[in-house]
Amino acid sequence: MLRHLSALGLALLAAAPALAQEVNLYSARHYDSDLRIYENFTAQTGIRVNVIEGSDQQLLQRLETEGVNSPADIFVTVDGGRLYQAVQAGVFQPVDSAILDDRVPANFRHPDNLWFGLSARARVIFTRKGERPDWLDDYEDLADPRLEGEICIRSSSNIYNISMMAEMIEVMGAEAAEAWAQGVADNLARRPQGGDRDQLRALAAGECSVAVSNTYYWGALAQSEDPADRAVADAVEFFYPNQSNRGAHVNISGAGVTRYAPNRENAIRFLEYLVSDEAQSIFADSNNEFPIVPGVVIHGPVAPFTEFRNSGVNVSVYGLNAAEATDIFDRVGFP
Ligand code: FE
Repeated sequence: MLRHLSALGLALLAAAPALAQEVNLYSARHYDSDLRIYENFTAQTGIRVNVIEGSDQQLLQRLETEGVNSPADIFVTVDGGRLYQAVQAGVFQPVDSAILDDRVPANFRHPDNLWFGLSARARVIFTRKGERPDWLDDYEDLADPRLEGEICIRSSSNIYNISMMAEMIEVMGAEAAEAWAQGVADNLARRPQGGDRDQLRALAAGECSVAVSNTYYWGALAQSEDPADRAVADAVEFFYPNQSNRGAHVNISGAGVTRYAPNRENAIRFLEYLVSDEAQSIFADSNNEFPIVPGVVIHGPVAPFTEFRNSGVNVSVYGLNAAEATDIFDRVGFP
């Protein structure tokens, strides 16, 4: 009788997932419009999307603590460096999907398909409108002594700068990258303060003549309810660096299927949906980012700026070189 009951119990357990088709998302992205994507997916597949939001570190810690018992099927985060940290923590499992392989360019997914890029963000150079020096084209030029006291950029401890530095190590070699970092540090207009938006505000206010920021922060200022923010966006312009050579530095937000995903098939279907034209457009628009899938139409202030060359460096390099990037920043005294 006991044996019979436990067999019945097992049968019930096995049947449970079929009763409630769902996929559980741990997301370090927080945009209201992402909800629309989840609703569309549910409408098309009948699979309910449960979302737990948190900071990157909170969610990673939670995944590690929960281990094999974690309900998470997918982990979503921002920046190649953080995806690398998640890989190091053993959070992901490889995914074999012809749709994901086909839609996501090779440099925007993990070499073993542990994660896939979902949207792209370019880190570019801003000047006030019409005031770009005619010789200023590449990241390398930020170290030019002609820019002494002219550059606004956030702190070197920020992950966006660490990832950018990691790419410079990859494309220049460590020695040249260190000389570059020294040159940029020597050109700072002020001790780094605030986020990317604050660099654009300082640029508009005349505290510096060149600023480094991700493009989507400019998009956010352009769409702001605050007229002062819109005035900042209107006063400045950006260009994509290194367009006559390797291309601009691009980072991603991305996601992978977790190692112990209880709803693995649903998770893969969900990732495949996220790279559909429909989801890509909403996903990119939610933060004024760019779709990871080439040719998808977007809207909003950055829509006219989708055509540019990116460096093609695999985003996983940002994590691989992160420790060395931090060491270089420290050695040259980049604040
Ligand atoms: Fe950001």
